[in-house]
Amino acid sequence: MTDDTPVLPSIPAAPSRRAYRRIVAKFGTNLLTAGTDRLDLEVMAALTGQVARLMRSGVQVALVTSGAIAAGRHRLGTESRRRDVPFRQVLAAVGQSHLMHSYDQLFSWHDLVVAQVLLTKHDIEDREGYLNVRNTLLGMLEMGVVPIINENDVVSLDEVAEAKIGENDNLAALVANLVEADLLVILTNTDGLFTADPTIDPSATLIPRVERIDEHVMRLAGDARSARSRGGMKTKLQAAQLATGSGCDVVIANGHAPAILDRVTAGEAAGTLFTAGVDRPESRKRWLRSALAARGRVVVDGGAARALRESGTSLLPAGVIAAEGPFRRGDTITIAAENGQPVAYGIANYDDDDVRRIRGQRSNRIVDILGHAYGAEIVHRNNMVLL
Ligand code: GLU
Repeated sequence: MTDDTPVLPSIPAAPSRRAYRRIVAKFGTNLLTAGTDRLDLEVMAALTGQVARLMRSGVQVALVTSGAIAAGRHRLGTESRRRDVPFRQVLAAVGQSHLMHSYDQLFSWHDLVVAQVLLTKHDIEDREGYLNVRNTLLGMLEMGVVPIINENDVVSLDEVAEAKIGENDNLAALVANLVEADLLVILTNTDGLFTADPTIDPSATLIPRVERIDEHVMRLAGDARSARSRGGMKTKLQAAQLATGSGCDVVIANGHAPAILDRVTAGEAAGTLFTAGVDRPESRKRWLRSALAARGRVVVDGGAARALRESGTSLLPAGVIAAEGPFRRGDTITIAAENGQPVAYGIANYDDDDVRRIRGQRSNRIVDILGHAYGAEIVHRNNMVLL
């Protein structure tokens, strides 16, 4: 143990605070394949059976699923080590239809209809797209159709880094944010978050409950990733951070444990529960919080960071040290402290060029310097969410 080993309060695993009515369940590749090179239909049957039971009891469930690339690889009978993008996109295309076919069959046993939803970051980054996808998903939930959501890897694997979500833990958190879920359940093949990597350290214990995902908690994730999936504990914690910030509880649990979805949704202690950090923010702020569209960044000094965090003030030019663009007036930007830590997301009142010219200045100098002004603030507090 080092000095900065986190001291985690041993809070008994308490039941959740509320009855969950709308949940997002995420099934990872390692879970769906049970660690093999193909979809494990027995595992999928157990999971879909639980989803069906929940839906019959009136809980709305949106499913985020991985496994397309793994299914495609198996389907094409290729154990090839090829990793290039076009090849993986072919695997995704082949595997996605196989994956959907399996879900369609399994849910039809329970008289449930499924809908395929393939998303890329582009589809939801502007507010209009975000609302559009949201309405479609809510329509499905209302009609008792099971949305089965994956990233559209066939087109998005190939795109520049900013265009893709990249892995499904974050996609699931974005979906939870979109549909205002009460609970996000990330099902994987480990029991949750441990005090150390349990595969290396036998004294590692499961952490039943986390109230705040800070740097100490983040450090527990390590960098371990498995060969087949794109996520790891780190992406799960990032996803939990986004979802809890959107007013949603998050549970990371072992999808192989019997009746795990029923138990978690009923508020029983299982896996690691991350409690919602805030009451659900209003819709526009939730969208901002998803930071999907964040295009640039301004760096602020210590005084400004403190004022934002502690007093909820607007960001004025005086506190800005640097602007990293390009971004335009109206774009979402990240407001970061000098050490790079994001403090808030917000909508910029000025282009990055303008911000560079007025940074460090008093607001009453803006017109003199720029010849125009859109207000005293770089980001108004009404257009900002603190992280
Ligand atoms: N979208 C990928 C797939 O279906 C999975 C991404 C992930 O594992 O997070 O294969």
